[in-house]
Amino acid sequence: MVNAVFNKTKIVATIGPASNTKEKILELMIAGVDIFRLNFSHGTYEDHGQVVKFIRELNAKFQFNVGILQDLQGPKIRLRALEAEFYEVSTGETMVLAYEEGKGTRERFTTTYNLAQDLKVGDPILIDDGNIELRCTEVIRNEVHAEVIYGGKIKPKKGINLPNTYVSEPSLTKKDKEDLVFGLDNDVDWVALSFVRAASDIMELKNIIKDSGRATRIVAKIETPYALKNIDDIIDISDALMVARGDLAVEVPMETVPVWQKNMIRKCNAAAKPVIVATQMMESMVTNSRPTRAEASDVANAVVDGADAVMLSAESASGKYPVETVQAMVKIISAIEREVPEIYQKFYEESRFAVDFYSSHLISNSCKLAKEIGAKAILSLTKSGYTAFRFSSHRPEANIFIFTKNRKLLTQLNLVWGVRCYYYESNDSADGIFEDTEKILVNAGFLSKGDMYLTTASMPVIENKHTNLVKVGVVD
Ligand code: PGA
Ligand code: MN
Repeated sequence: MVNAVFNKTKIVATIGPASNTKEKILELMIAGVDIFRLNFSHGTYEDHGQVVKFIRELNAKFQFNVGILQDLQGPKIRLRALEAEFYEVSTGETMVLAYEEGKGTRERFTTTYNLAQDLKVGDPILIDDGNIELRCTEVIRNEVHAEVIYGGKIKPKKGINLPNTYVSEPSLTKKDKEDLVFGLDNDVDWVALSFVRAASDIMELKNIIKDSGRATRIVAKIETPYALKNIDDIIDISDALMVARGDLAVEVPMETVPVWQKNMIRKCNAAAKPVIVATQMMESMVTNSRPTRAEASDVANAVVDGADAVMLSAESASGKYPVETVQAMVKIISAIEREVPEIYQKFYEESRFAVDFYSSHLISNSCKLAKEIGAKAILSLTKSGYTAFRFSSHRPEANIFIFTKNRKLLTQLNLVWGVRCYYYESNDSADGIFEDTEKILVNAGFLSKGDMYLTTASMPVIENKHTNLVKVGVVD
């Protein structure tokens, strides 16, 4: 058994105090989580290390392939702790934001970054996802003075966004580099970088990963206007994207975010790169046992848009109902996958000029063939993962089963729409491979007598080529 739940659209769940015990992690896996996200904006290495250990132990014990995504904080600016539980500010008042150590006070809030370095008089400053809005009135060496436009309660360590200001701190910060060492030591499957602005940010990360010898793949979190401007180059260089709606909706006009969500998904689908839709998908379930109607629709619409995965943040990290939230998400996803045929059979046009054009055309035509003959499953062998990404991008209705001897792919590909992986030490003969892989799926209950399926592979087996063969099989 690969997973207890068999959705094609995957679920990413953030681990936190509400879910970091071994028991809760198992419950979440059974409920249908495909990838756990470790948020390096919070928690210690000890906490994260413990969670990694639990996930791996449970994967081994129950034969799950649940993957791990390390989320690097990037140049996120925050208020520091406060002397009081909170301070209330109101319209027209002046606030001081100083780049200093120590707790902030009503007279002088302290920040983790020197805003004075980049801000100009008149620039907006947003605190706590934009709930508090200020406008810069004065810039002094290490402090800015600002007028409160929309006031409210200010709590400790809240995030600060500067929608009109280019933050000069690099996207991969000193903290990120340290955190990345931890992630690579622990061989995480995916690493996500926050506040990406250009393809060069990803290049830097890519080089560090390459030097480490790990096969970790990269998710670019799209949450700044600069990333939107450079979106095609960023998709080109990244392995996956996250539509990080939390920060994006304060960095750019919120009404443009749904449009960008659709654009990014379309671009990623066409490029065969997984795309995750994140933030506030089931937000009310942080405190309630059921989602709102709007949240149910949001998840459903992300699936219809073509997301590979939908993500939970506070809902699973610190909410009251982590498991119930995943269960509700599974129900919403399943309803769309059952009832809305338009999400399948996309058959993207493949380029005639790409290096691997013969194999990408073989894959797209295999998807068409699977549709025409009503194949129940597509079985595919891969070493690099290339074939899995490409099969998935065409969104075949036939189930995609990937067989690989590359152990890293088992958990890594768990992020990819529709893909289920099996470890398979390849047989030398083609007939052997066809027989073995069919048997594995029959035994797992995914194929039965009379079912038609396709198998793709690369022949001769020993030559390590891209996929160059497709075979039609019937279970007898
Ligand atoms: P975060 O990223 O939760 O790390 O901020 C997601 C988002 O901004 O939507
Ligand atoms: Mn963010």
